[in-house]
Amino acid sequence: MHYFKYHNSELYAEDVPVKKIVEKAGTPVYIYSEKTLLRHLQSYQQAFDGYPSTICFALKANSNLAVLRLLAKNGCGADVVSGGELYLAKKAGMPSNKIVYAGVGKTDEEIAAALKARILMFNVESPDELKAIDRVAGQLKTKAPIALRVNPDIDPKTHPYISTGLKKSKFGIPIEHALEYYRLARRLDNVEVLGIHKHIGSQITAIKPFVDALKRVIELAHNLKEQGIEIRNLDIGGGLGIPYRDEAPPLPEDLSRAVLPLLEEGGFNLILEPGRSIAGNAGIFVTKVLYLKKNTDKEFVIVDGGMNDLLRPSLYDAFHDVKPVKKNSRKKALSDIVGPICESGDFIAKERMINRVHQGDLLALMSAGAYGFTMSSNYNSRPRAAEVLVKGSDFYIVKERETYKDLIRGTSLPKHLKR
Ligand SMILES: *Cc1c(COP(=O)(O)O)cnc(C)c1O
Repeated sequence: MHYFKYHNSELYAEDVPVKKIVEKAGTPVYIYSEKTLLRHLQSYQQAFDGYPSTICFALKANSNLAVLRLLAKNGCGADVVSGGELYLAKKAGMPSNKIVYAGVGKTDEEIAAALKARILMFNVESPDELKAIDRVAGQLKTKAPIALRVNPDIDPKTHPYISTGLKKSKFGIPIEHALEYYRLARRLDNVEVLGIHKHIGSQITAIKPFVDALKRVIELAHNLKEQGIEIRNLDIGGGLGIPYRDEAPPLPEDLSRAVLPLLEEGGFNLILEPGRSIAGNAGIFVTKVLYLKKNTDKEFVIVDGGMNDLLRPSLYDAFHDVKPVKKNSRKKALSDIVGPICESGDFIAKERMINRVHQGDLLALMSAGAYGFTMSSNYNSRPRAAEVLVKGSDFYIVKERETYKDLIRGTSLPKHLKR
């Protein structure tokens, strides 16, 4: 569900014509809908209402400060994977006791910052990291709250690049080694074992992988209990998919209906880390048609947004629906929508039967609110896009388009190269 709909052939973001936003903010631009973001957050909150639980939004899906602030104000916490994300979560007012920190490569500085912020829990991905956290916590004369991220070896049946819970993955600790590493954790003076963490992948469109993985994790919790290690926080990660085209992924309520019965006796505090399912369909990416060109049998639609703005199609062959900002009744044509970047892999939609476009038309790439702007770059020295947040009939530029000056910020010339 989202609030990007047509009225009189015009695409609207909530109650604002997209065209009106573009007149102010230019293209390419990311547009987010407050109402959609809140609806998605609330569907998690309602689904798990009555069970002690914390929703920690995965910042890597969308880390715009206004989006984060909106979520924080409505009771959401944060799943961070870097010092930068921790900084943003704090800036947005996410309460420390709702911040969890994952990622395979935490540095000493990042660990120290998270300890000083007094986050809820480190989700630890290796024994080396565990020792580093113990050492840094010792230096700061504090105790680090930790969970081990276990890898339950479950195939989430999603794109290999976003599959994280298989044995061959770099993430987490193989579940069969978990007991051994929990014993190690218990021996360390400066860590406190609080939980278990798992996250098996992203854009998962079935409930079974979640259930299978959770069963393994619960079994581990029981085994740990027998060893005198009490698990309080059960962090089941994120990963619920969204409909990009014709998928019908489970909803948060389906997840809760499948998961909560398994947790009845546990007495856990449940942590969820949704990213895509909160932000994905709450955003669109709008780009303008620059040129049309026919090479052999293909129509290329060259637009002003490229892989540097929206990487998912190039990186994962991901599908984003393409919609005209103004509907028309022109003939359909098989088209590739490509960006201005000097790479053959620079496309944002391939072989689509879409109504013929004209120069200057605006196109909306749907479901672009997650892993859109956050994955964007300055490749080809292109300033990054603007971001806009819509609330009802109001809209706000919540991140200015970058300028050429931004391209040289922080650079300097050594003396012998000065002019
Ligand atoms: C990416 C990530 C998430 C969010 O995944 P979604 O598929 O966007 O819900 C949650 N937890 C961890 C540890 C992640 O790396």
